[in-house]
Amino acid sequence: MATKIHHFIGGVRVESNSTRFSPVFDPSTGEQAAEVALATIGEVDAAIESSRQALATWSATTPLNRARVLFKYKELLENNREALATLISKEHGKVLSDAMGEVTRGIEVVEFATGIPHLLKGEFSENVGTNVDSHSMRQPLGVVAGITPFNFPAMVPMWMFPVALACGNTFVLKPSEKDPSAPLLLAELMMEAGAPAGVLNVVNGDKEAVDRILSHPDIAAVSFVGSTPIAEYVYHTGTAHNKRVQALGGAKNHMVIMPDADMDLATDALMGAGYGSAGERCMAISVAVAVGDAGDALLERLEPRVRGMKIGPWNDPEAEMGPLVSKQHLDKVRSYVDLGVQEGAKLVVDGRDTSLQGYENGYFLGGCLFDEVQPDMRICKEEIFGPVLSVVRVPDYAKAVEMIDAHEYGNGTAIFTRDGDAARNFASRIQVGMVGINVPIPVPMAFHSFGGWKRSLFGDHHMHGPEGVRFYTKMKTITSRWPTGIRAGAEFVMPTMK
Ligand code: NAD
Repeated sequence: MATKIHHFIGGVRVESNSTRFSPVFDPSTGEQAAEVALATIGEVDAAIESSRQALATWSATTPLNRARVLFKYKELLENNREALATLISKEHGKVLSDAMGEVTRGIEVVEFATGIPHLLKGEFSENVGTNVDSHSMRQPLGVVAGITPFNFPAMVPMWMFPVALACGNTFVLKPSEKDPSAPLLLAELMMEAGAPAGVLNVVNGDKEAVDRILSHPDIAAVSFVGSTPIAEYVYHTGTAHNKRVQALGGAKNHMVIMPDADMDLATDALMGAGYGSAGERCMAISVAVAVGDAGDALLERLEPRVRGMKIGPWNDPEAEMGPLVSKQHLDKVRSYVDLGVQEGAKLVVDGRDTSLQGYENGYFLGGCLFDEVQPDMRICKEEIFGPVLSVVRVPDYAKAVEMIDAHEYGNGTAIFTRDGDAARNFASRIQVGMVGINVPIPVPMAFHSFGGWKRSLFGDHHMHGPEGVRFYTKMKTITSRWPTGIRAGAEFVMPTMK
């Protein structure tokens, strides 16, 4: 009998009544480790109702006291960093050091959210009219929901709920059904930190749970991170139900290597950004755009590095890259490599036959490297989400920019160069939301905001940082006049300030 993973509602783990379950695998061995309940509509409703009941008390708790819960939460997360990382690695497959890094990036958002008394301060103007003052305040939205992807089962939920809770909302999380264990521990620790029951609930499930969240009258806002087709669907369905929605989608991130770049630095950057976490990162670099004669210098360095990459199970301390998340995803990524060969790209390193002794059923794929990729090939247009790096050679900088701007996605990009003028021009004109200059994965820190452009984000707000506070609050503006100013009697014309 497989271990069953259920929900976390009202401050406790709750057994599901669902008849539908989804298998959870250990990608390193290919064995089924557990099965996760796919919530019924009644269970989603119960989670939302629990968060609704918790709202009045939590939103009336002073921001300082909410921050104190988050301070305690940060301490608990630090004490449980390895336990969380182990849960992530076992179900996702990423190597433990990478999972530890994921937890750290999540903790940083909690650190940001502890500053909420300062972040919620409004604006004040004295004498907007004679003896009339005006001030603004930010108030919570109510019960808000998060729907998250498999690739960062702890960090992406932590982009959302620490900020939402700090602002005074209560939260229902619907994590990925592929790796549901870490989110449950995150919720448990939040209760241990002193948040009242219902402030953070976790309901596991699939499309049925998502659809219920999107149409439920008590959900005020939805944060989504996942693939573009689902992000677009969530955005349109949620907004059609008058909810505030931010929906972050897929990506195809380009790194431009100028001929004057430090080629060793660029090669190191491409190795980590292309193959770290087996390429299953929305900020992974999947296309290296080599300008002029940068191509040859890059290829001669990259090829042996990709060939020599150490692949292993999540708990191998030497491993640089683990397996892919599922058999289905492994087959999909491998079929993209087949497609690239058919399309006429040059497969310089072929990782398709990788097999690890003792882990023959694990979902491993060796690093794959394509050269001579053309922008109109499907391997260059579509998100592969695996350890497959394409090198496109372009004659000049203008062609590199043109290619990136023409792409449907605009999540992240980078330029490697020693030329400050080129770097500055790139940062200013490129149609992409997050830009790195000699930094391959420009993920903004927690006190800035994360978000792409074009079909990488639907909605108006990026996540965490100041944009997160704006997303999870609504502004109220108060105009006040005290008795000396109301002696003039009623006015019937359109009010203008005097
Ligand atoms: P996914 O879109 O398959 O799933 C994301 C969430 O949506 C999950 O919780 C899933 O249960 C739910 N879902 C799946 N199908 C659904 C449907 N038909 N209707 C309603 N809900 C549905 O994404 P994934 O495979 O878990 O994650 C990988 C994707 O996420 C990649 O495309 C990656 O680029 C993207 N991603 C983007 C960012 C970003 O910041 N832009 C960050 C991480 C991941």
